[in-house]
Amino acid sequence: MTLSTDTNLSKAVQVLKNAQRICILTGAGISAESGIPTFRDEQSGLWKSFRAEDLASIDAFNRDPKLVWSWYQWRRAEVKDKSPNPAHHALAKWQQHSVKADKPSQQLSLITQNVDDLHEQAGSSATHLHGELWKNHCSDCGMPYIAHIDTGSTELVECDACGGYVRPSIVWFGEMLPQRAWQVAQQSADNCDVFMSIGTSSIVYPAAGLAQVAKQNGATVIEINPHPTDSGLVDIQIPYPAGQALPALINQLGL
Ligand code: NAD
Ligand code: ZN
Repeated sequence: MTLSTDTNLSKAVQVLKNAQRICILTGAGISAESGIPTFRDEQSGLWKSFRAEDLASIDAFNRDPKLVWSWYQWRRAEVKDKSPNPAHHALAKWQQHSVKADKPSQQLSLITQNVDDLHEQAGSSATHLHGELWKNHCSDCGMPYIAHIDTGSTELVECDACGGYVRPSIVWFGEMLPQRAWQVAQQSADNCDVFMSIGTSSIVYPAAGLAQVAKQNGATVIEINPHPTDSGLVDIQIPYPAGQALPALINQLGL
């Protein structure tokens, strides 16, 4: 069966046509086709011997700030020239349509675990649960650091206010999610008729709990992932890459 005749895709289209509130959660998989590796993909080159879990924490930063900062500068350099793929574009088109419609009959919330800005580059507005790769703040006083930082340099940067080291505004292992973003995500998962999980392995809590909340409240759960997860929550699996599945989906929605 090809994607366009896939019965699960048709089922998803039927459910989505009748939905009023849709909550979409995206993960690293949606950016994979843009050439940004997911965490589970093997790390490349220089950083092969490091695990993300060992670098993305405040303990790691306190122990060796230069090492952690260098890793993020490397990730930034890797991501800098990447562009949105058809999956990001399809979501942006759908979101813009739902806002523009004369009588908006559909509310679409886009929540992402990604720290890249490919949703924004495609024209979407997204709630970032795990922070943003391009933002920085002071590790001591918390003040945002807004001056441009060249991705080519691995020199530590100091806070203008207190001299503390500047760190990326990413939610590290063991840290709380940004309160406002988490509230938005919980509310939209709580109130949705359809919850769509796209390109996430659904194992990183608390974000993974959002599908559970939606399901408990009666929402239909749709998953787009070429390697379906066995969370037991999914009603409709679309086992294709997001860059193929989402354009097909919005095409069949008539957008
Ligand atoms: P993950 O790495 O745990 O899982 C990625 C999932 O995407 C897998 O289930 C995989 O099967 C699926 N996938 C791979 N290619 C796909 C495609 N073309 N279309 C659809 N799905 C595809 O990612 P996660 O669940 O988001 O959790 C990892 C954490 O790592 C997140 O918190 C995120 O902040 C961070 N992270 C972000 C980026 C990014 O911003 N692009 C990249 C790597 C890691
Ligand atoms: Zn400071």
